[in-house]
Amino acid sequence: MRTDTDRKLRDFLGAKTAKTFAEVLEIETVGELLRHYPRRYLKKGELTPFDELEVGDQATVNGRVKKVTARALDSKIEIRPDEVHKFRKRRTITKVVVTDGRNDLEAAFFNQPWLLTKLTPGTSALFWGEVSMFRTTMQLKNPGTEILDEEDLTEAEIERRARPFRPLYPATAKLPTATIERSVKIVLDSLDERLDDPIPDLVLRNEKLLGLREALQKVHLPDTEKDIADAQQRFRFEEALVMQTILAQRRAVTDALNAVPRPRVEGGLLDEFDQRLPFELTEGQAEVGEEIFADLARPHPMHRLLQGEVGSGKTVVALRAMLSVVDNGGQAALLAPTEVLAVQHHKTLTKMLGDLAEQGMLGGAEHATKIGLLTGSLNAANRRTAMLDAASGAAGIVVGTHALLEDKVQFADLGLVVVDEQHRFGVEQRAALSAKSGDNTPHVLVMTATPIPRTVAMTVFGDLAVSTLTQLPAGRSPIQSSVVPAKEKPDWLQRAWTRVREEVGKGHQVYVVCPRIGDEVKNAGDEEGEFAAGEEEEAGGKKQQARPPISVMQVAEALGEILHDLRVEILHGRLPADEKDAVMSRFAAGDIDVVIATTVIEVGVDVPNASTMVIMDADRFGISQLHQLRGRVGRGTVPGLCLLVTDLWPGSRSYGRLDAVASTTDGFELSRIDLETRREGDVLGVAQSGRRTSLKLLSVLRDEDIILAARHVANAIVSIDAELTDHPVLRGVVRAALESETTEYLEKT
Ligand code: ADP
Ligand code: MG
Repeated sequence: MRTDTDRKLRDFLGAKTAKTFAEVLEIETVGELLRHYPRRYLKKGELTPFDELEVGDQATVNGRVKKVTARALDSKIEIRPDEVHKFRKRRTITKVVVTDGRNDLEAAFFNQPWLLTKLTPGTSALFWGEVSMFRTTMQLKNPGTEILDEEDLTEAEIERRARPFRPLYPATAKLPTATIERSVKIVLDSLDERLDDPIPDLVLRNEKLLGLREALQKVHLPDTEKDIADAQQRFRFEEALVMQTILAQRRAVTDALNAVPRPRVEGGLLDEFDQRLPFELTEGQAEVGEEIFADLARPHPMHRLLQGEVGSGKTVVALRAMLSVVDNGGQAALLAPTEVLAVQHHKTLTKMLGDLAEQGMLGGAEHATKIGLLTGSLNAANRRTAMLDAASGAAGIVVGTHALLEDKVQFADLGLVVVDEQHRFGVEQRAALSAKSGDNTPHVLVMTATPIPRTVAMTVFGDLAVSTLTQLPAGRSPIQSSVVPAKEKPDWLQRAWTRVREEVGKGHQVYVVCPRIGDEVKNAGDEEGEFAAGEEEEAGGKKQQARPPISVMQVAEALGEILHDLRVEILHGRLPADEKDAVMSRFAAGDIDVVIATTVIEVGVDVPNASTMVIMDADRFGISQLHQLRGRVGRGTVPGLCLLVTDLWPGSRSYGRLDAVASTTDGFELSRIDLETRREGDVLGVAQSGRRTSLKLLSVLRDEDIILAARHVANAIVSIDAELTDHPVLRGVVRAALESETTEYLEKT
């Protein structure tokens, strides 16, 4: 029977197996099964006699089970075969003694208690994996297993087992890799010689890629290492092509939207502002400015990402863009992620503009405009004024949180939206904005201080143009960071507080950052607590107790004594808005020496006199977040110091991450390290919860060349055939990708 890839699995496999595939892996068609690629391959060693095994070998052994026992890791009591089901969710170890008749070997399995009932004494099985030494016993840890049923040994089985590589599939107890392997083989054998290939022939030839049929054969049943590499290369390219085609189409749509062109106006607010600037723009700021002005002058909406290290001066760039739009009679909105930041931006802009922002006020400059502030917590009267100013056009610039996107908020002529420190500014938000400006879509500038590696920008932000500020303004003193292992060296922590005292003595100010607020009744959720889940660490062979992260309240209490003679205050997101505001203003004014805060201060807060930051339980934060946080100090001419306090012991993996943060201030390098330690799905912002991502083999970090090549091809295809009329197979795959949730990350950009 010949088949194509849309056919149902149940036509080829037993009804029961087909049902299991549907239930366990959501695989129902031939195509879906064939796209379930092996996770890795087991290079089949010769069957090795037990007495020839050596530690470190990849070996396959054939033996008979002599004894099997299982127990939960937290108890000494053995699990009985009839109570296995109770232990499915617990951490267990199953030990199997295997014999080849003369010698014994131990196999240890973690969290697979059901093996107790499968690998019963007398069972014959193959075991494969790496040989290791546990205490004095040679051991296979979590080996692959395959029970040898005498009647199972048909000719086909023997052939299958004789292959040089065994594919190992993402599998579960209900659907073991051997079953998947067998099913794939059945399906592959029945497959047409030619399959409709989403990659056009010409591209296959140019890029020297395997065709679909051959690649499927080689990815599942390779004969050589090269087969595996060639097949994977082809599928990676295909994944990249689908993704880049979606992005190219989206760019085409954006390019077709209308926007009011806002060319630069001579002698307006912008020129006036530039003349008064107390410093010179960095080269980068000037260049990016020109890029933006060029975009703004076009009749299509700008859609640009501005990335730049913390302190690289993005605000000035944004403000100049906004002024240029105001000079054109349009309005600009600045969206901040939090209220604290919105308020601060409002202040900063007002201060920077001086009398240029005093429209209608005594002493206001000639072309002066007005800066509005619109946040969720304004009182009714202020809110009404702010909304009126936006709707009438009196406010040239409106600063706010996402409250700005609400339906009720109207603008007279919204020309530019600047989104600060926010990765995700979705298609939805863009739509909400367009709705505010009639047929014309406003220009959009997204700013971020978290540097994004090029390939990620090309995928996640594939339809944004990217500008990067690489220099910091001159005169910045570099910031020095150190890890303080508080458990190992308690006196270092004491020294840290002494250091804080010295800094205050010199007239500087200090942030102490904690991962949690701590005013909740009992470990309740914490809106700012984006810290990594309390990871358990192997430390000197001992498990460290994962305790809740330290809180602002706990630290405030402890420091109340240690720093009793200093002016110490707390700041976190659950304080009433006016209190938050008051603390921030007093800190900015130098009336507070030490502020103990959550990550509310993470972004944007700008107090040049703050020299030192102590981050408590630093291991509970992500790498990029730590980098972002410490960007709050060393912003003026005062040298910055950042102390990363942790209970971890040097040598553990998470401690290594802190070391990395301490040893470099290169945000791009840190961002790369950060992303590498995450799973691909997270990189793309897809929820972890078992959702399938359309990227199975492609890595947006490693496969830069492939992504670049695919982007080229996608652009070429879409530029002449936007609807993919001449590429029906590719069109089908693209549509399927868009319909599934798997490309949700693309929607969020
Ligand atoms: P970020 O990119 O982190 O948002 P900001 O825009 O807040 O950085 O700028 C940080 C500080 O640097 C601000 O106090 C700002 O006034 C100052 N600054 C910006 N550009 C320059 C420049 N070209 N020369 C000197 N100082 C600058
Ligand atoms: Mg900023």
